[in-house]
Amino acid sequence: MSKSNLGIIVTSSVVGLIPAILMMFIAWSHNSQDEIHRNGVVDWAYLLTIGNSWFAPVFLIVAAIMLSLRAYSNRDIRCQNCAGKMKPENGKMWRCEECGNVVHK
Ligand SMILES: [Zn+2]
Repeated sequence: MSKSNLGIIVTSSVVGLIPAILMMFIAWSHNSQDEIHRNGVVDWAYLLTIGNSWFAPVFLIVAAIMLSLRAYSNRDIRCQNCAGKMKPENGKMWRCEECGNVVHK
């Protein structure tokens, strides 16, 4: 696994855990009809389902946005003169690998 894929997974997980933990905390505090815990017995399946119902969609949406941004920044730019591949140069311009044509970003 590449370093940037790991970064997307870690970032999406951290962002997903925020609402998951918050909603699990609210469910634990509210505990209506003792559904989450009663006399020291915890319904982990219910509690973790509440957490995962926030973690999973937030993780997927954040990962999808980050993958889209990476794909966009790595998009294939072609030269207008010769259709050669344009390479980024010092962050401000693209230079054609074939003919040396320069385009400013
Ligand atoms: Zn060119």
